[in-house]
Amino acid sequence: MSIEDRPNILLVFTDDQGYGDLGCYGSPYIDTPNVDRLANEGVRYTDFQAAPICTPSRAALMTGSYAARVGLANGVLFPGDDHGLAENEITIAELLSRAGYATTAIGKWHLGDHHPFLPTDHGFDSYFGIPYSNDMRPNNVHGKDVHPPLPLVREDTVVETEPDQRTLTERYTDEAVSFIEEHAQREHPFFCYLAHTMPHVPLHVSEPFEGGSYGGLYGDVIEEVDHGVGRLLEMLEEEGIEDDTLVVYTSDNGPWLRMGHDGGNAGPLRDGKATAYEGGHRVPAIARWPGVVPEDTVCRELATTMDLLPTFATLAGVAHEIPSDRTIDGVNISRLLTDPETSDSPREDFGYFGSNGELRAIRNAEGYKYFPQEDELYDLHRDVSERVDIRDEEPAKADALAERFTQLQSDLKHNCRPVGDVPGPAFTERGGTTPHDT
Ligand code: MG
Repeated sequence: MSIEDRPNILLVFTDDQGYGDLGCYGSPYIDTPNVDRLANEGVRYTDFQAAPICTPSRAALMTGSYAARVGLANGVLFPGDDHGLAENEITIAELLSRAGYATTAIGKWHLGDHHPFLPTDHGFDSYFGIPYSNDMRPNNVHGKDVHPPLPLVREDTVVETEPDQRTLTERYTDEAVSFIEEHAQREHPFFCYLAHTMPHVPLHVSEPFEGGSYGGLYGDVIEEVDHGVGRLLEMLEEEGIEDDTLVVYTSDNGPWLRMGHDGGNAGPLRDGKATAYEGGHRVPAIARWPGVVPEDTVCRELATTMDLLPTFATLAGVAHEIPSDRTIDGVNISRLLTDPETSDSPREDFGYFGSNGELRAIRNAEGYKYFPQEDELYDLHRDVSERVDIRDEEPAKADALAERFTQLQSDLKHNCRPVGDVPGPAFTERGGTTPHDT
């Protein structure tokens, strides 16, 4: 296999999984032999960044752009929201479709729950999952009683309401395994986006995994997700396509620490979900592609979920299709796949946001991170926990980052695209379809 051969792409995207919640990232209590195996057979990234919360993270992943560019940085979408990912945004799935890939989205979407915002409106041939967060249901964990029953959707139709959440991880995995089996021997490659609902609170796990982990219920949930990864790897092997398939495993944002034991663990990182500290944005990330990605490597370069769009498009041979009429913040990080230990990141910096969409901090590829409001500077390479403010030691670094922060802030304000805004009710009942389809 060489990088010229277009790979299948399997992207496993977990929800609110912390930087410290995998064996290969140092969890002492959660056993993840299958994800650890991916790391042993591929590359593990230490400085991989996403976004502080669910919707912005998925907007960035799908468009290769900061969520603030596409109007989705402030908070998350709720059932029946008029807002969603604008129709004219070009997603990873659309680019891969143009390259002839078969595409599917499974699990959580969270970029709009009616047409024209659904996965099948945005380049995916098929969709199966709960289109938003699993706590957005009647009597949810926030104590609101304003949401309709949780819908499990196929394409754009509700096939079940209030599905037994203990079955979700397995059902999503089943769906992905079947998709791979169906497409493995076809002439065109495939893109499978498996966005697990778990471990977002409320946590649920199937019986065989109950109480199996030293890491409590949260650990059980991760171990079931890991078991699912093992089944996917087995299917790739059974079909003889493991060398033709790039597998990427990552998470949308940091752990939801205020959920106590049900929230994950950020390991050495400061704080968690919804914050601009590393614990909010930095996520575990692993990539395996036998024969292309060197085995058992660690990449300490700056990379982000936004970079997956230009990277996947390049691997699929459609780099020329990456939109040039708008700003794409992602950069092609193929060389961090093929040569992860000696290549420098092509990315110069990365902006960190609050859960309200406000730009809060910026870091550069060297590992310096600056918070203008607090006037604090951290050296992440010496101090990944953001404990020691070195503003006074390194004023020139702080000034340079402050300037870049101002540029990015202004650019995001003036050079942004409108959010999708189309009224439409949420999915409400079994068999109900969305209004634009009926
Ligand atoms: Mg999340």
